[in-house]
Amino acid sequence: MGHYEAGHYEAGRGRPDRGLFRRMSIALEVVATDGLARAGLLRTPHGTVETPAFMPVGTQGSVKGLTPDEVAGAGARMILANTYHLSQRPGVATVAAAGGLHAFMGWGGPILTDSGGFQVFSLGAQVDEGGVSFTSHLDGSRLRLTPEDAMAIQAGLGSDIAMALDQCTAYPIAYRDAEAAHRRTLAWAERCRAAHATAVSAGTAVNPGQVAFGIVQGSVYRDLREASAAALVDLDFPGYAVGSLSVGEPAELMAEVLDYTLPLLPEDRPRYLMGVGTPDYLLEAVARGVDMADCVLPTRVARNGTALLYPRAGGAGRLVLRNAVHAADFTPIDPHCRCDACRHFTRAYIHHLLKAHEMLGPRLLSLHNLHTLHRFVADMRGAIIAGEFAAFRAGFWQAGGGVWRRGGGADEG
Ligand SMILES: [Zn+2]
Repeated sequence: MGHYEAGHYEAGRGRPDRGLFRRMSIALEVVATDGLARAGLLRTPHGTVETPAFMPVGTQGSVKGLTPDEVAGAGARMILANTYHLSQRPGVATVAAAGGLHAFMGWGGPILTDSGGFQVFSLGAQVDEGGVSFTSHLDGSRLRLTPEDAMAIQAGLGSDIAMALDQCTAYPIAYRDAEAAHRRTLAWAERCRAAHATAVSAGTAVNPGQVAFGIVQGSVYRDLREASAAALVDLDFPGYAVGSLSVGEPAELMAEVLDYTLPLLPEDRPRYLMGVGTPDYLLEAVARGVDMADCVLPTRVARNGTALLYPRAGGAGRLVLRNAVHAADFTPIDPHCRCDACRHFTRAYIHHLLKAHEMLGPRLLSLHNLHTLHRFVADMRGAIIAGEFAAFRAGFWQAGGGVWRRGGGADEG
């Protein structure tokens, strides 16, 4: 993992030509396809990422409990950081003064920032055409986020990929509400596109190679998704996300939405599915042509004392190491895993750490879970390149992949 160098930014500085920026900042090269699944190389101002790629979430500018070297050692090449949290604390001015988020947090690889919209909407925001008004979770003050604000904050953070402000919707949602959210998202996307172009051409952005992605909305209504995708493609974003999925809808419905939405997006642009992070969902998303995904799941369940097991025959699912059944089990979490936790420590020891509230317990489980998920994604990529993805996918479900859908695990019956 390389370290932050200001020189990385020089190539794009002061060059307002949009096409030139795209070639220099973010580009996806599809190196293999198998069915609709694709393996690629995503070039960014902070290095190239093999796709499909899973992005761990560093909410506060840290993947909780782990150093950047540990995150990279677990297989991550690109991470996600939360604009809302960082704008609240320490504030964008501090991060910008540090030279951007890469320098501030010591992560040399690519960073994607969300728009802040998801957190803001979860705080019970009031939305109008101009933007969103909400209450700060830190001090209770009333704040406002506009599309222009979202882009200015992300420009100050200096991420490689910024996300346009969108109105994400819950599931289920009435058609008329989904339609209103889609129309608002579209109007905001145009404003974000303009605000981002202005920031880049002004030469003041912390990361002049930063690009902005648009987000397709429309909930589970096909005509809305189609209208959203078509209008965003007209705006010519360098990449596209599919939003408002993994918000409680049945897995089959998510698959259906991806089935009719992804073919509407340009083949030469990265496709990002937001908020997906279990092997079953990742597999079915990649099978439909998704290139990138993020989720807090592997690190969040680690802090709750749960290990994710690599999907294989007889071993799929989750292992709840808090459970007493592991108290005298002197085997690794997964004897096939090469992560630090599995090479050096036993289930009994990690169980003990969790019971004793030692911080090493969640740290080891976070390392293991990230390692496991990245290995699974790398294996999917290998299968796509080998032309064996269909067999890989079938094998996953035959080996008991359904255990993920039921939310159960190897020691949960
Ligand atoms: Zn492991």
